[in-house]
Amino acid sequence: MQDAKVNCNKCDVLILTSTFNKSGGFCMPCFMKLNDGLRPSELNALKDRGLFEFFIRWNAFVKKGGASVKGNGRIIDKLSHWLPVINASISGYLRCGKGKFDGQKNSDYLVKLKAASEGDILLFLTEIERFNSELVKATKTL
Ligand SMILES: [Zn+2]
Repeated sequence: MQDAKVNCNKCDVLILTSTFNKSGGFCMPCFMKLNDGLRPSELNALKDRGLFEFFIRWNAFVKKGGASVKGNGRIIDKLSHWLPVINASISGYLRCGKGKFDGQKNSDYLVKLKAASEGDILLFLTEIERFNSELVKATKTL
């Protein structure tokens, strides 16, 4: 029975029962699509570390960021340079959970970006700053 196959609940592709059990009924691509690109083991690790909420919130920021950054010429060069750096730092930390989270560096970038921003982008950066410091606090107590 170990090799028995069942259908994915979403796309109907045949998958191993072990995959089905691990993912709550989905093939790996469907599972990852439903969970912001996380594998079941990564999802469990995030939950174990108490960081799952941060991951969800961060993904929402990243999606929203794309929209609010568009069409603001003056700051867009700086943002398009630094946001991926900040994003890599935060989502990299959340995803692999190794090493130390360097929130101070993010906060330095954000201060510079905020000084050159206004309106929607300033609000967006302020939210990221708040998120960043909450994550710093959360990781200190882990
Ligand atoms: Zn599927």
